[in-house]
Amino acid sequence: MAERIAVFPGSFNPFTIGHKAILEKALPLFDKIIIAIGYNSDKQTATSIEERKTAIQKIYNGNNKVVVTSYTTLTVDFCKEQGATFLIRGLRNESDFAYEQPIAQTNLQLAGIETIFFVTPPEYSHISSSIVRELQSYGADVTKFLP
Ligand code: ADP
Repeated sequence: MAERIAVFPGSFNPFTIGHKAILEKALPLFDKIIIAIGYNSDKQTATSIEERKTAIQKIYNGNNKVVVTSYTTLTVDFCKEQGATFLIRGLRNESDFAYEQPIAQTNLQLAGIETIFFVTPPEYSHISSSIVRELQSYGADVTKFLP
């Protein structure tokens, strides 16, 4: 059987316990998951892509199913290049769904890439990288939101 490869794309700026929870839900379903740090022009950058990559790699060091990388191309082109036929995304609320639905439909129509959604554990549905960044900018302790 062909390897089931999925890409989990995101800004991960920073990678939070919410992202980790989604990845853990997805792990049993795939042979390989590529955590792919993308460049999102709408989002402010707190740390460089290299710094984020190193931080995420540290978490999954020793897990041979997880690969961490960055990309700059169209997400579906990156999936094809990696032999991945699935995308993983997390859903916290209806705003996430409203944002994600047309993107998932477009990616399917454009490239046959299916998006698999995982609903966040309820205790993490309020956690976002942007709030963590805001707290960090005031010097607050954000360790409880980070893996
Ligand atoms: P992007 O810039 O692509 O939205 P993010 O790093 O903000 O990247 O998010 C990556 C994915 O993780 C998205 O599908 C987002 O909805 C999901 N996500 C972010 N925070 C959480 C959380 N607390 N629980 C579940 N999913 C989350």
